[in-house]
Amino acid sequence: MHFGTSSLLTYSLSYLFRAESAHSKLKIYLGSSLQNFKTSWGKIHTLLYLQHIEIKASVEKNINLVLHNFKSSQFKFLRGVVSIAALNKIVEELKRSNIVDADDITCKYILRKTHGLPCAHELAEYDRVNMPVLLDSIDSHWRKLNM
Ligand SMILES: [Zn+2]
Repeated sequence: MHFGTSSLLTYSLSYLFRAESAHSKLKIYLGSSLQNFKTSWGKIHTLLYLQHIEIKASVEKNINLVLHNFKSSQFKFLRGVVSIAALNKIVEELKRSNIVDADDITCKYILRKTHGLPCAHELAEYDRVNMPVLLDSIDSHWRKLNM
């Protein structure tokens, strides 16, 4: 087959046109998929960020809750003197003291026996007479300054 100059030019131009068309299609495709990637990443980033904020807020809430518990006037003789671990145990026992009477033998003195800390019935008694927990009721090994 013989190509004249004009037909060769036509062929070349049409080849170039198709190539450019494919190129621009690829550019459009890559462009939009890059856009999709950016959008997806943006959404993922926002989700992670919100999750991070949520976790941070819940940790802060727990810390505030603990601090609030320790701020309670019930602990005014213990704060800064008795270890945080002991205060945490007393806070836990306080929840139980709500269902135990001051003279209740069902208390079984568990925290007193096992940890040297005021047990539910003792805490109920402090609450009944509206008195803060006394340092004397905390076994000396819980005191920070004892070391
Ligand atoms: Zn008890």
